[in-house]
Amino acid sequence: MKDVICPVCKAHGHVKLLLRVSDDTTGILYPKCRGCRNVVKIVIRAKSGPKQNGSHFVYHDNLH
Ligand SMILES: [Zn+2]
Repeated sequence: MKDVICPVCKAHGHVKLLLRVSDDTTGILYPKCRGCRNVVKIVIRAKSGPKQNGSHFVYHDNLH
């Protein structure tokens, strides 16, 4: 399992856990952060190497 941290909150200095995903999870998620109330696009890629943090975070502001 790995933790997905809200990139918007993180940019403001807060660590807010959005959700947990299993290590073999891939795809695009749109969780809503309870901290900043933004819908955040989370792109989870398949493991490509030994580096643990392979997730790519994109702030998505078109959804409400
Ligand atoms: Zn947030």
